[in-house]
Amino acid sequence: MSNLAERKMRFFYALRSNGVTDPRVLAAMEAVDRGLFVKGVFAERAYDDTPLPIACGQTISQPSVVGLMTQALNVSPRDKVLEVGTGSGYQAAILSHLARRVYTIDRYRRLVREAEAVFAALDLTNITAIVGDGSFGLPEQAPFDRIIITAAAEDPPGPLLAQLRIGGIMVVPVGQSDAVQSLIKVTRGPEGYDYEELRPVRFVPLVEGLGRD
Ligand code: SAM
Repeated sequence: MSNLAERKMRFFYALRSNGVTDPRVLAAMEAVDRGLFVKGVFAERAYDDTPLPIACGQTISQPSVVGLMTQALNVSPRDKVLEVGTGSGYQAAILSHLARRVYTIDRYRRLVREAEAVFAALDLTNITAIVGDGSFGLPEQAPFDRIIITAAAEDPPGPLLAQLRIGGIMVVPVGQSDAVQSLIKVTRGPEGYDYEELRPVRFVPLVEGLGRD
């Protein structure tokens, strides 16, 4: 077996042994090569189950956490999904295989442009990437069936809760920015919101306003 094939096999073993068991999520993760979203010296670690640095001082998340968040989101093929925190574009590319339409937003123009180039190369035509402050969501496209926030908020942002369809699910890391945060699954029912704590995680913070790059 080639070195690359062996690394990819270990990658999927790490996903499964960390609880990513939904066959649709695993199939989407098999369809999206993480190596395309990691650049420079870190590219050779693309198949390690670890977060890695990307441009603008940000990170591509740990693959098993990407898998667990995607699994918790329980996306169906008719869903319209909003991701806050495009980063490398890896999470959005996985969602594009599971959902009808994906909107992804990041405060750094450079990250959005680089992610768009990878989406185009992979012919992922159901993703719209936007530069903006995702704390306010995307009111013009709301409501969303699913919302995933891939940066840590002190509380689930009010405008995003309001943009979740009744019956919809949001997954968000919640907690103080530098500490370990809790991954929360929010389900919107007809009477209000239900909150379920899933596991501890560590994410870069959700920051207000646009980035400089
Ligand atoms: N989902 C990404 C991926 O697949 O590579 C990883 C996201 S990274 C952990 C967090 C991202 O959230 C960063 O790219 C950061 O710029 C972005 N971010 C932080 N605050 C934001 C905000 N208010 N609006 C939009 N993006 C934000």
